[in-house]
Amino acid sequence: MQRIKKLKILSSLYNYKLFGLNYIYDIHYTKKNTSTTDTLPNNLNQMEKIVQNCHLCQLSKTRKNIVFGEGNINAEIMFIGEGPGANEDQSGKPFVGRAGELLTKIIENVLHIRREDTYIANIVKCRPPNNRVPTPQEVKSCIPYLLKQIDIIKPKIIITLGATAYNNLTQDTTPISKIRGEVLNFGNAKLIPTFHPSFLLRNPSAKKFVFSDMKKVKQLMI
Ligand code: URA
Repeated sequence: MQRIKKLKILSSLYNYKLFGLNYIYDIHYTKKNTSTTDTLPNNLNQMEKIVQNCHLCQLSKTRKNIVFGEGNINAEIMFIGEGPGANEDQSGKPFVGRAGELLTKIIENVLHIRREDTYIANIVKCRPPNNRVPTPQEVKSCIPYLLKQIDIIKPKIIITLGATAYNNLTQDTTPISKIRGEVLNFGNAKLIPTFHPSFLLRNPSAKKFVFSDMKKVKQLMI
């Protein structure tokens, strides 16, 4: 960032502090029409370092670790969840708790591929306290990182897990119960929304729907 921009931002922050504000959301000094995604590096390792130092939203104050995402950078299939839970915050890895175990089973036993051959990321990279749904401001700050990950990895198939992932990635507010299993277009990728594994843990009878959605994914993989 140019020195002059940094100084302007610092001066704004000092002014906010003078008025008693400890936290603010966005300061825009980038040129109009330049999306945040364009200003991020085209390299996942470099972007991970940026995310490690990200303080664009209040989740950065309570996180133990960022959960950047992991997997094969040439993956054909990308899973997108909502945000890290306690286990993910602790380990820095996505989907490692009970929901993660179920996701791994879906990948390995239903799609018949290895989890490490997919890429797994979330809408937000830091844990929302008490596992609450991330706020629109938190999503707005964080989603450019995910969009850039999609841009770099170029998956053939994106599977969104649950309502938060689908609604925020596509900006379509259709309820997940209505849209799941549809094969949609997302840029050059096919996007298939399905239920979140945490929902399946609470509602095992919904597993049959995810099974049927994964059959569609298998057909797209051919
Ligand atoms: N739930 C999510 O949405 N993401 C994770 O990484 C873990 C649980």
